[in-house]
Amino acid sequence: MAVVHQNHEEYNMRDPQCKKCRRAGEKLFLKGERCFTPKCAIVKKPYAPGLHGKKRRRGMSEYGAQLLEKQKLKNMYEISEKQLLNYYKKASGKEGVLTEELIKSLETRLDSIVFRLGWTDSRRKARQIVSHGHILLNNRKTDIPSVKVRKDDIVSIKEKSLKSPMLKNLEEKLKKHETPEWLSLNKEKTEGKMLREPKKDEIEIPVDLSMIVEFYSR
Ligand code: SF4
Repeated sequence: MAVVHQNHEEYNMRDPQCKKCRRAGEKLFLKGERCFTPKCAIVKKPYAPGLHGKKRRRGMSEYGAQLLEKQKLKNMYEISEKQLLNYYKKASGKEGVLTEELIKSLETRLDSIVFRLGWTDSRRKARQIVSHGHILLNNRKTDIPSVKVRKDDIVSIKEKSLKSPMLKNLEEKLKKHETPEWLSLNKEKTEGKMLREPKKDEIEIPVDLSMIVEFYSR
């Protein structure tokens, strides 16, 4: 039995998602439920993977720290460098505070909304159910995770898809779910609506967005 436990633990340490957290030095909540259990790899080994993982963080330059924040944000939202740069450029063209505009762009992606509605316990799974065609945006099948959801848009799950293994135990999951104030959720119809865009203070993420803005505005 002890052997099984050890193997499971080792598996967690090698998990590519968990390695991202260990490199970042904090929980990025990429694995859903497991992130809230003692099995979380960063609880067990709170330092970067590899032989010199424990030393690596000391003496990090400002540039290195900015890079790290940027990497954390990309990992959390599962976006590429190019996508993040595009979000930054769009945010810079708006009148509001840059960090606020940046987070709004990320949080109003269709996959982020699916995650915030509690239909999946990680953004990665939200991205999968969108790209597998299980989600409707204003009653139209939409399989592009990055599509922007706007105020008053309706996001729902295709009726047939409710039987999909990707959405199993949804009813149970939703009992515990608290919908953010900027969204509404009809749990019976599994239908959500965006009431307004989120404010930065409403989004708790372990990333210092101002460092990312500093990085791009150098
Ligand atoms: Fe893995 Fe989640 Fe823990 Fe990150 S927070 S190390 S993804 S279990």
